[in-house]
Amino acid sequence: MRFSFQGILFSCIFALITGCNSTAPKVVEDAAPGVLACSVGDQAAGRVIQVEVWRGREDSLSEYGVARVCQRLQEVSRQLWAQGVNFRFEVLGTVQIHTGLGRANNHLMQSIQATQGQLKLVIVDAIAQCGDAAGYILGCTPQLGRPVLYAKKHDPYNDLAPEWVIWAHEMGHAAALYHPDAPGMDTVPERIMTYMPLPQSTVLADYESANFAQLGSIVNTPRMHAAMGSRQGSVPRINAEQLLPLVKEAGPHGVSLSQLTHLDDAALLTLGKLLETSLGAVSAAASQSPGLPVLINALVVLGELGKREAQAYVRQYLRRQSGAETLNIRLYGLQALGRGQQRHPTEESLTFLAQSSEEKFWCAEGQESAQDCASLAEAARDALHDAQSRP
Ligand SMILES: [Zn+2]
Repeated sequence: MRFSFQGILFSCIFALITGCNSTAPKVVEDAAPGVLACSVGDQAAGRVIQVEVWRGREDSLSEYGVARVCQRLQEVSRQLWAQGVNFRFEVLGTVQIHTGLGRANNHLMQSIQATQGQLKLVIVDAIAQCGDAAGYILGCTPQLGRPVLYAKKHDPYNDLAPEWVIWAHEMGHAAALYHPDAPGMDTVPERIMTYMPLPQSTVLADYESANFAQLGSIVNTPRMHAAMGSRQGSVPRINAEQLLPLVKEAGPHGVSLSQLTHLDDAALLTLGKLLETSLGAVSAAASQSPGLPVLINALVVLGELGKREAQAYVRQYLRRQSGAETLNIRLYGLQALGRGQQRHPTEESLTFLAQSSEEKFWCAEGQESAQDCASLAEAARDALHDAQSRP
């Protein structure tokens, strides 16, 4: 990994100017729609980006009030200011709470339309899909150059990049920027727009800074794999041997599925190697777990693309897990199995989803909390709904 001198330098300049103890922005917690809730960033800047914020109704998202959002936007504007991007964010109204925004997928993401001159930021519990990609996804801009972006609730244990980096990265997509790198090529980890943002991914290239001047506007772009931010046609098919490393090295946009649709069950089931490492607390392998994001990516690829055998594996995997620490992976797995039915429907999986839509399916052995049983049953109902709809 390259050491980013540039990033350090900018941080130092930033600290000199703003002082090391950055102050929390002043916020109005219950601002009415259209009324200023906070103004953060360069107050002398001529360019103002108006922001509307939504979040799902889930309890897990309750910390995303105006204070947290404004704090994070302040971090974004300060970091970008140090790189020649001068604007301030004006958050209008309080955070709007909507039902159905918990676990975002492509269908749901069509429900919020871009408005010229306004950035819409939607905080969700999970992003199950982003265009062609699925898996553990931190941020999604459904259409390049459109000022609507989705950010997953930050998980400090599993999400490597700081939240402001992910938000700034998605804003880059909203301002029509794509990735300068991709899996399998030399990466540029110091850049915000790398496909794999890390803590050191804090630098914008000059042309990228210029693009940020358009943030909030609707920008017409050449046709691209919008959500992935890569040029269309640039995602090559991969072979069976490349599958495991690809799933392990997927970045915060998850795994692009179109490059995998030709793989058969035997190839997909090699991902079982990853999933089995998370099992058996007594085995030494438990400490070598590849981490939750990789496990989720593996299970989601099996669920989305698997035929009979791979789907049987996913159903069995979902059945034999229990406990709060595996809740998240099971929620992702159920959704993937549901969407997978649009490609390869099987009686067994449809029956499984129908049965597991009942809370008692998960609660029968008494190992789950009532709340987790309810979450799993709800995810199974959503998955069954996806399974029965047209792709
Ligand atoms: Zn991206």
